Amino acid sequence: MTLKDHLLRRIREHGPMTVADYMNACLLHPIHGYYTTRDPLGAQGDFITAPEISQMFGELVGLCLAQSWIGQGQPARIALAELGPGRGTLMADILRATRNVPGFHDAAEITLLEASPALRHIQSETLRDHTPRWIDAIDDLPDLPLFLVANEFFDALPIRQFLREGSSWRERLVGGDGTSLTFGLGPQTAQPALSERLSDTQDGDLVELCSATAPMLGFIAGQITRHGGVAMIIDYGDWRSLGDTLQAVRSHEVTDPLKDPGQADLTAHVDFETLALAAKAAGCAYTKLTPQGVFLERLGITGRARSLAAPLGGSQLETLVAAHRRLTHPDEMGNLFKVLGLYPPNAAPPPGLEP
Ligand code: SAH
Repeated sequence: MTLKDHLLRRIREHGPMTVADYMNACLLHPIHGYYTTRDPLGAQGDFITAPEISQMFGELVGLCLAQSWIGQGQPARIALAELGPGRGTLMADILRATRNVPGFHDAAEITLLEASPALRHIQSETLRDHTPRWIDAIDDLPDLPLFLVANEFFDALPIRQFLREGSSWRERLVGGDGTSLTFGLGPQTAQPALSERLSDTQDGDLVELCSATAPMLGFIAGQITRHGGVAMIIDYGDWRSLGDTLQAVRSHEVTDPLKDPGQADLTAHVDFETLALAAKAAGCAYTKLTPQGVFLERLGITGRARSLAAPLGGSQLETLVAAHRRLTHPDEMGNLFKVLGLYPPNAAPPPGLEP
């Protein structure tokens, strides 16, 4: 039985499902889920992420974390944490770049939040020279100063979608016509969680709500406020999202999100305002939302690219130049991807970011 058959049967028996339930089944179904069953990253996979494009990304993030650790007085034990580490490439680059920072590795308890058994296995191979610990939920993080990074994690969290009708909302639902999955709309309901959005939307607008974000951010921010540390959240999205951003990608092409459930990556843009407000409510300071290109330039990516380029020629040099452009140029990932930093109110923001 395919995931599509399974979902059609579920819809026949229980009625249409929310977009969040659909995303959750597609991404994390224990047998058929997209992440549970495969390694989707890289040129041979479905999509490529910044750490997979170039080692420069993880190196600069690593130095940024280590500099924040030094700035906060080099606490003797910290959680060095990553959410959704993919192949483990970002954490491996962070660890390589910081290996000569005295005391940093000794202090760090490497902690990885990962839902996919297939990717946990790959991470354990990539990080075989270290001793990471995997956790299943955010509140399993140790009670220590927290130095955390999340790249392309929050976009994978399931969202619900609501269409405005007057001052009520109709939820967008996934139903079935017997053989294929279709989008439909639920009945008109009041949505107290969306009351703020009545002032910046009009009839017919669609808004998205990710209910997992605020509790997760609240926990992360609470740890940073209580124990110290920083968090860097890197993803595509904007300060406040409006419109349908649900997207399916397969073999580097955008495809219909309902076409082959479980076979394509499903994501939505991150609403960074929700993250920032949840952090603030937990007493944490947050930085200006900063384009990835600006962040990496401030951390010195061009100098790093020059020194990596020095011994290279031919196609290797071309690959490096293309990677630098891809990560930083406003027409590529430089502007679409944004960085939000969290830090204790009495400390400096992470390097490359401003209050
Ligand atoms: N950060 C990596 C991979 C991004 S892909 C990179 O930049 O290359 C998204 C990652 O988040 C995958 O590792 C996926 O398995 C994980 N993931 C998705 N939803 C998750 C959830 N709800 N809980 C934990 N991990 C999740």
